[in-house]
Amino acid sequence: MVQEGGQRKKPNILVTGTPGTGKTTMCSALAEAIHLRHINIGELVKEKNLHDGWDDELDCYVINEDLVCDELEDTMEEGGNIVDYHGCDFFPVRWFDIVVVLQTDNSVLYDRLSKRGYSESKLSNNFECEIFQVLLEEAKESYPEERVLALKSDTIEDISRNVATLTDWVRNWNSPSSL
Ligand code: ADP
Ligand code: MN
Repeated sequence: MVQEGGQRKKPNILVTGTPGTGKTTMCSALAEAIHLRHINIGELVKEKNLHDGWDDELDCYVINEDLVCDELEDTMEEGGNIVDYHGCDFFPVRWFDIVVVLQTDNSVLYDRLSKRGYSESKLSNNFECEIFQVLLEEAKESYPEERVLALKSDTIEDISRNVATLTDWVRNWNSPSSL
């Protein structure tokens, strides 16, 4: 049986969190710092039509989770990916060596989300998602708890610190196959 982590030479990182917590900003910076591949699931879904149409009520694509997982299997097996998505419970657990949950203070998040021109209902859905720590719970329920890392993302300094923390983590990561 292939052990967790398989034969990857580089780790895979999942970055999750409520929309607006800074996933894409942090992932871009991290990908540049450490030469990993940034995979923005939202973009991928649009680009490759990995969805079942538009949900008018939720104001977003209905993501087809099976299509997304099929699309990414080979790439993830290779390693060296930073996956950016506001959900985490449908990916194979074995794909990720660390699951980062970004968190933002409510007042800060409200300002960021209102700047996006979201509808009132989308705004409050996302806001509640952060208040109730939905993504942190989802991550803890879906992955071994020692693999889940919550990081604060309120300020620009937080981004730099988080990138530094994760850069160190990647440098210290040992491929299971090299042990
Ligand atoms: P997400 O991908 O999680 O939806 P983004 O990376 O698109 O979030 O960030 C949303 C907005 O908030 C952007 O305008 C970005 O510049 C800003 N932002 C993100 N993270 C931070 C942070 N830690 N401090 C200050 N502004 C941030
Ligand atoms: Mn994003």
